[in-house]
Amino acid sequence: MRIWLVGLVMGMGLVSARGQAPVAAPHKWAVVLHGGAGVIERSSMTPEAEKQYRAGLQAALDAAAKVLDSGGASLDAVQAAIQLLEDNPLFNAGRGAVFAADGTNQMDAAVMDGRTLAAGAVADVQRTRHPIALARAVMEKSPHVFLVGAGADAFAAEQHLEQMPPSWFFRERRWQQLVEELKKQGQPVPARPAGVPAAAGVPIALFETPENHKFGTVGVVALDRAGNVAAGTSTGGTTGKRWNRVGDTPVIGAGTYAANQSCAVSGTGVGEFFIRLTVARTICALVEYKGMPLQAAVDEVVQKQLVGLHGDGGVIALAPDGQMAWSFNTPGMFRARLAEGGKASVGIYRDEP
Ligand code: ASP
Repeated sequence: MRIWLVGLVMGMGLVSARGQAPVAAPHKWAVVLHGGAGVIERSSMTPEAEKQYRAGLQAALDAAAKVLDSGGASLDAVQAAIQLLEDNPLFNAGRGAVFAADGTNQMDAAVMDGRTLAAGAVADVQRTRHPIALARAVMEKSPHVFLVGAGADAFAAEQHLEQMPPSWFFRERRWQQLVEELKKQGQPVPARPAGVPAAAGVPIALFETPENHKFGTVGVVALDRAGNVAAGTSTGGTTGKRWNRVGDTPVIGAGTYAANQSCAVSGTGVGEFFIRLTVARTICALVEYKGMPLQAAVDEVVQKQLVGLHGDGGVIALAPDGQMAWSFNTPGMFRARLAEGGKASVGIYRDEP
């Protein structure tokens, strides 16, 4: 009888996911997201550009909030918000992805369900409009966790996920950033992709510094009313990266991780460092095994461990008990958060709350 009752209570979501004391009401939902960390400073941003970035972050926050407020699952909220960001050319994901050194857009994405520890990831995707949807399909419709390259796009097509020609992902601004980066490295500049305008039109110089375009990944972590956390991250990687290079974003435990036992994390920054420090999983391990408050755990990894290796970047995180956190060691990080009944916070620069 006792076991039955406990089972019933847990099934109704009345016990917190960390197995703590029963709570009277369902969980309050929450969402935290990022649009990349890097050298993002007021001096390099026009007021118009700033407005557009803030609007993009707010729209993604609203999309996640809408799902969560109607009782939807954290996974659905993560996907909805990331798909919007993938379609927004301002961000380095989907239709705003940066170029690899061979002149292609090679996108990486991952999603993880904190309730079941199920995960799906893709790397070097070149045709799928929403890499995050593909990562989710890998998680839910295949026996695998990680698909790469042409096989990943082929799986997307089989799953009837929207396929786009390379010209759809092409952005003049991103191309110019590639040209600049390759020249700096003394590398050859590849031919412009087929089907794009021949002449370099003048791109909207939204905000341009030599460094900022190395970042811009998008990521979302969400907590739903059932107490389940989920995380997702999507990126074009780094400008001028060697083709077929894979960053931290799709590496489960590096750029993306979620577990109801600890927390959900999405990262952005120089992926090589995030992989070596297994940043997302380390944060969750500090929460789970050391009992650290979430903010202390993200600061430990981002401000101490990453800084110790000279690894630039930041993370967002969310725990099943509603703790929200972010931390970045760069001048800025596009970010936003909202908890049920609270006020939305959208920030870009370091000095914002
Ligand atoms: N972490 C991504 C990568 O290394 C890039 C980024 O976050 O901007 O692929």
